[in-house]
Amino acid sequence: MRLTEAIHLVGGGVWGGMGLSPGPDCNCYLVECGGAWVLVDTGSGVGASPAAIAAHIEAAGARTDGLTAILLTHMHGDHAGGAAHFARASGAAVYASGLTAEVLSRGDEEASAVAAAKNAGIYPADFRLQPLSGIAPMDDGEVLRFGDTTFTAIATPGHCNGHLSFVVSVAGRRDLIAGDAVFWRGRSLVQATADCDPAAMAASMVKLAGLPDIDGLFPGHGAFTISGAKRHFDEAASHARALRLPPGV
Ligand SMILES: [Zn+2]
Repeated sequence: MRLTEAIHLVGGGVWGGMGLSPGPDCNCYLVECGGAWVLVDTGSGVGASPAAIAAHIEAAGARTDGLTAILLTHMHGDHAGGAAHFARASGAAVYASGLTAEVLSRGDEEASAVAAAKNAGIYPADFRLQPLSGIAPMDDGEVLRFGDTTFTAIATPGHCNGHLSFVVSVAGRRDLIAGDAVFWRGRSLVQATADCDPAAMAASMVKLAGLPDIDGLFPGHGAFTISGAKRHFDEAASHARALRLPPGV
């Protein structure tokens, strides 16, 4: 589903998603970069989800085995559980924060909160986080270029440690793929997990509100906006500056 000239929505499941794929998948975005294709977040890898996401990738005009790169916002299973599948299917280079890379390399279900999510019934009991080694670590402010498009990593911890958002810049547009750092109307996603840090989340929201000239906000769950992202960042930051978190998504 094309959202902008460059950004397609190719996954989003039953857990706060758009019903594009059947599993507990985040919103997965495919970015068309003038001949290169970059997948940002891979969904859960549960059941028929990878096949459904692959079908949306092909409907966008790309091929799963033709992906250039895979970027991961964070280590949670609904965002990164399918990473090993898509990395193997495509041979694409995978990028994430150093911490996300380390946790995924050992398929660590405790650190990635997959074990907690299974206990909560969010993921099926037989779900296994497939280890994925060789992820290239990205630091805050680091820029990758694919085709005519740049991706700038923005460290946005709080929802969990090692969380990145990505500013996607091409042809005069600047969009933020935010993962679970901030949502439409500046909403938040606080979870009762060991590394969810309200103070860090608030600081990340203030940081995002300071990004210049962002057009669209494309979060990991729920609604997105094609223009006027700053209004949503400012709403989040107004709560954060008052030492509280915005309402939940
Ligand atoms: Zn998450």
